[in-house]
Amino acid sequence: MNKALDRSLIKRLLEADCEDPLASTDQLTSQEIPPGVDRRTFLMRSAVGGAAAVMMGHSISAQERTAKALATLPQASSPKPPLAADLNVVKKGQGPVLTTADEFYKVGPGPSSSHTIGPMRITYDFYQRATKLPADKLARATKLQVNLFGSLSATGKGHGTERAALAGLVGNEPATVDPKFLDSLRDKPDQTFPVKLGDKSINVSLKDIIYDATKGDFKHPNTMTVKVLAGDEVLLEQEYYSVGGGFIEWKGYTPPKKNPPKYPFRLMKELRAHADNNKISIAKVMLANEMSIAGRTEAEVYAFIDKIINAMVATVKSGLSMPEDDVLPGPIKLHSKAATVYKRAMDDKYASDKGIGALSAFALAASEENGRGHLVITAPTGGSAGVMPALVYGLLEVRKLDRQKIRDGMLAALAIGYLCKHHATLSAAEGGCQAEIGVASSMAAALTATAYDAESRVVENAAESALEHHLGMTCDPVAGYVQVPCIERCAFGAVKAWTAYAIASNEIASRHRVDFDATVMALAETAKDMNSKYKETSEAGLALSVTLC
Ligand code: SF4
Repeated sequence: MNKALDRSLIKRLLEADCEDPLASTDQLTSQEIPPGVDRRTFLMRSAVGGAAAVMMGHSISAQERTAKALATLPQASSPKPPLAADLNVVKKGQGPVLTTADEFYKVGPGPSSSHTIGPMRITYDFYQRATKLPADKLARATKLQVNLFGSLSATGKGHGTERAALAGLVGNEPATVDPKFLDSLRDKPDQTFPVKLGDKSINVSLKDIIYDATKGDFKHPNTMTVKVLAGDEVLLEQEYYSVGGGFIEWKGYTPPKKNPPKYPFRLMKELRAHADNNKISIAKVMLANEMSIAGRTEAEVYAFIDKIINAMVATVKSGLSMPEDDVLPGPIKLHSKAATVYKRAMDDKYASDKGIGALSAFALAASEENGRGHLVITAPTGGSAGVMPALVYGLLEVRKLDRQKIRDGMLAALAIGYLCKHHATLSAAEGGCQAEIGVASSMAAALTATAYDAESRVVENAAESALEHHLGMTCDPVAGYVQVPCIERCAFGAVKAWTAYAIASNEIASRHRVDFDATVMALAETAKDMNSKYKETSEAGLALSVTLC
């Protein structure tokens, strides 16, 4: 295009009494885009049509542009293919979100909610079922056996899955197990423990936890079976799935019946409409739903949230108190960094780095606790357990925000986690690290925005931005240990959460072009397309390229 024509076009565009057709899609996006029509192509056609009209000296309304764009669109050959029937986005995206805070925020031993907390919950569940077997069957029982499959088998050794499974089998629950008990299983692996089943006592040890096939036609990548045997005869067997974030399901599982939520929502769009129409915050919508779904009082909901806030603060404090250069368990011999990074952040010589340094140190501290197998909080998982505590600690203990602001932030963060679980996944074995650190960062961005009293659209935008910039992130833990890249990744997730809040709170909220629901769909589809080598199997990426010596 020559300069004269260029100038003339610009002049006509400026003089035209319609809005610049190349600059804004606001009016267009309010027009219904028919099903099966590609949105990007539609907007391109519309912009070109608008520009052509202006060049010809006409103004053109958004409605006219819409009609012209539709008329010139090629016929869509077929609508987008449906998502696979077994993907969570299909199965779980129906109906309103019914998850509750106590299902989501779980306290338990690290390093992985799906590989330690989930398996421990599973074997504890099975132990309770086994005790209900008829007395004549129990009298014949000779053995308890756990078989680990898929990702649980591929990377379970690095996570200590066998120790977690054994701990549950002998009657430990994740929230109350003494991490020293798990450490003792690591240090003295030949110990045996009696399991009481009726009048019978069966000895179990780590030898009864079997690392079985890593590949196969499993219903979920984290599949395990637990059995009571009488010789070769199976007296009771149950197939279980550790589906991410410490959630468990089993063959024939039906979700527990719950009360209807006060404000039913499936999408962020609907959640925000409840908040805006009722002139309340997203946090207050979530509080009302927690109360109605779980039948709890406001005080009970806050008591639980306070417990989680306190546990998050404790995990950061505990991590920071560890000696500098502490060596984490496992073959990587990874040296801890939290205390060193924190020390430097507090050094006045590096005052300009203080904020990022301190936030990173808090995340490293909680994540290193996870690497040690100490108690952590799933938010949403063990691998990502450094992200939310970093922001909670920073806002509560350093910025000294009122506790109620943090509670509200925790409730808004729950909305983000629930929606990602509802439509996509929280499991690295299903979706890679975007489903863990990405969701954690998104939750932390919503927490921060809410704690600073941001309006609902800003909360959504901050969460969207943090999630968007983790899309595609793979899971490839070196040697199967949740340490590299996981620990530093928590620090990056925390800093990105802050960045997302900083951007969202400074832009004009309505101009944010990507809505949270679209990004969750992208998360789900990327999870589906991601090569299984990058889904917590340690078969590719850093797990291959890093050589331990
Ligand atoms: S790479 Fe990410 S998803 Fe994988 S174990 Fe580490 S933190 Fe979890």
